[in-house]
Amino acid sequence: MKKKELEMELQKVRPFVRPRADLEQYPTSATIAAEMVFTAYARGDIEGRTVLDLGCGTGVLSVGAALMGATRVIGVELDEGALAIARDNALAAGVEIELMKGDVGCFQGRVDTVLQNPPFGSQNRNADRPFLDKAMAVADVVYSLHMSETIGFLAQYASERGFVIEFQKRFKFDIPHTFAFHRKSRKSFDVSFLCFRRCGEPL
Ligand code: SAH
Repeated sequence: MKKKELEMELQKVRPFVRPRADLEQYPTSATIAAEMVFTAYARGDIEGRTVLDLGCGTGVLSVGAALMGATRVIGVELDEGALAIARDNALAAGVEIELMKGDVGCFQGRVDTVLQNPPFGSQNRNADRPFLDKAMAVADVVYSLHMSETIGFLAQYASERGFVIEFQKRFKFDIPHTFAFHRKSRKSFDVSFLCFRRCGEPL
């Protein structure tokens, strides 16, 4: 499947019905999700791989990974309402995703690739840290979206865990006026899509 076709498929994925501000439930647009999944695919980290989507929300990244040939896709999510929509989205796309309800910290096991869009930490500072910690504990390759201003910190954080940033691309991540505390009609975050790969042992 080409990137454009993937994007068209991901446009059918339904977002959150009533997004929760405390969980930073900002869905990834079809354009950004297709770019993320396709980049990971082109780098050999999706097809034939077990892929873990931490904080899967309504499943856009999970569905994308499954469509691009992942052997097994696991989505972990705290919010039951989001999981119900993710279940429907997988069904509609004709793919199989294993959905687990719980905190990302609870995931046990090993996977080949983590593909995630964690909370950016705009509500709770450092909300992305438990996601990165878990991802780097269970996989050797982690694709993840973060606020661009934190890249310097993240590079250091990764190197302490034996990872390097192998690839990065910037996006404008638009957030509609979903939450009362957003005064502008749209808010745009400068985010970076990063690929971390294990290159050694943790310090
Ligand atoms: N991955 C989805 C959703 C991104 S928003 C997408 O790309 O569209 C971040 C998601 O992480 C939300 O669905 C939120 O409910 C979930 N989340 C936040 N904290 C969590 C935690 N500690 N454990 C599991 N999921 C969490």
